[in-house]
Amino acid sequence: MWRKFRIAVLLLILLIVAANTWFDRLYSTDWSNPLSVAIVPANGDGSATAERYVRQLTADAFQPIETFFAEEGMEYGIALDRPVRVLLGSQVRDLPPMIEPGTGRLGIMLWSLRARYWAWRIDGPPGTEVKLFVLYHDPRQTPALQHSVGMQKGLFGIVHVFADRTMAGSNDTVIAHELLHTLGATDKYGPDNLPRLPDGYAEPDLQPLYPQSFAELMGGRIPVSARQAEIPESLDQVVIGPTTAAEIGWAQ
Ligand SMILES: [Zn+2]
Repeated sequence: MWRKFRIAVLLLILLIVAANTWFDRLYSTDWSNPLSVAIVPANGDGSATAERYVRQLTADAFQPIETFFAEEGMEYGIALDRPVRVLLGSQVRDLPPMIEPGTGRLGIMLWSLRARYWAWRIDGPPGTEVKLFVLYHDPRQTPALQHSVGMQKGLFGIVHVFADRTMAGSNDTVIAHELLHTLGATDKYGPDNLPRLPDGYAEPDLQPLYPQSFAELMGGRIPVSARQAEIPESLDQVVIGPTTAAEIGWAQ
């Protein structure tokens, strides 16, 4: 009984949240104004390393993300100097609800509602349209990260990255990937983590096809052979392909 009541209240709150975010979503892929994206950092594993790393973060650290979207947008005739504007929010102490591996469909649905409500309650800097909660982890304590997510409903992402300066470039590619999920872009890689042809490839017409030098952002990795793909070291090794561009409203 109590549980049903709690779910009913949660659904009511979410209805209000949905009404609030409906217009945001409509305008997020309009591209007549820059999209304001807040990076809200958090210490993902409670380590001293992650704490130090989060404290030294500045908005400038995410400049490569702005530059990437400006350069790629130009390829698709986006007239804005800075289609994506990255703002740095204050560190959040309260961590998002986590999803246990092996959770069923109903569990995932309830988790996504809870996560959305959690994200909605945390304010980003003024003007924020998309909130990306970036959880930093000490690579020695957490060598393999949880799966990051970007949610279109609610315009937020929960992104797991490493608290290590040498990994800032690959962190940027994960952040940019999840950002595009919030704007409606789909994954372009298979269950084996290999990019799918042709949409997941930066240069699907390259002859010979391998090795490729770039990753398609939603394909995720650089295909170096038919069975092997490498994680890009920075956004300099990443492009946005035409299918992804169409999904985010950059092209037809
Ligand atoms: Zn993805």
